[in-house]
Amino acid sequence: MSERVHAWIGLGSNLEDPLEQLARAITGLATLPDSTLLAQSPFYQSRPMGPQDQPDFVNGVVLLETSLPPAVLLDHLQRLEKAHGRVRLRHWGPRTLDLDLLLYGDQTIATERLTVPHPGIPERDFVLRPMLDIDQGVTLPDGRTCRQLLAECTDNGLKRLEPSATAGLATPPHPH
Ligand code: ATP
Ligand code: MG
Ligand code: MG
Repeated sequence: MSERVHAWIGLGSNLEDPLEQLARAITGLATLPDSTLLAQSPFYQSRPMGPQDQPDFVNGVVLLETSLPPAVLLDHLQRLEKAHGRVRLRHWGPRTLDLDLLLYGDQTIATERLTVPHPGIPERDFVLRPMLDIDQGVTLPDGRTCRQLLAECTDNGLKRLEPSATAGLATPPHPH
């Protein structure tokens, strides 16, 4: 049997009921083959990167234990994005669902389709904050801690959504 690694997935949505999009995506991630959902973060509201003429985003992070190879995991993430009707119109534009592979164990991957760690991690509070909610000790393969990276991050007005904002959705409770 292949080795099981911790894979961190970042989720984002700013179209067609983002909370519902994320809740459904988490259900999809929880049922991936050869994988176990270990934890899901609270959700956060963030201002869009790039074009500002679009709604705020809802973001969250999940931690999976998986034996899927990284390229196969990416295939599944892209399948789920498609199932959520994601259409790519412009870079960093609005979307129903974005699923990014943030970390795959302590591996560094540089292929045409996949860059891991995800290069956006260091400057994205909407990724770092929820990762730290799940594991305060999370680090990048080069040894940088997410805690330190978040401390150095520009304040973009990230807002934690209270659990009541997600009440009634079919999501397992987050780990705190
Ligand atoms: P960003 O990557 O800056 O968050 P984005 O998520 O909007 O931007 P996408 O349009 O979702 O970008 O993805 C563009 C391409 O990025 C995909 O076709 C995919 O092959 C590639 N990619 C490279 N590394 C990763 C990764 N770690 N996770 C997800 N996609 C990746
Ligand atoms: Mg992205
Ligand atoms: Mg993406």
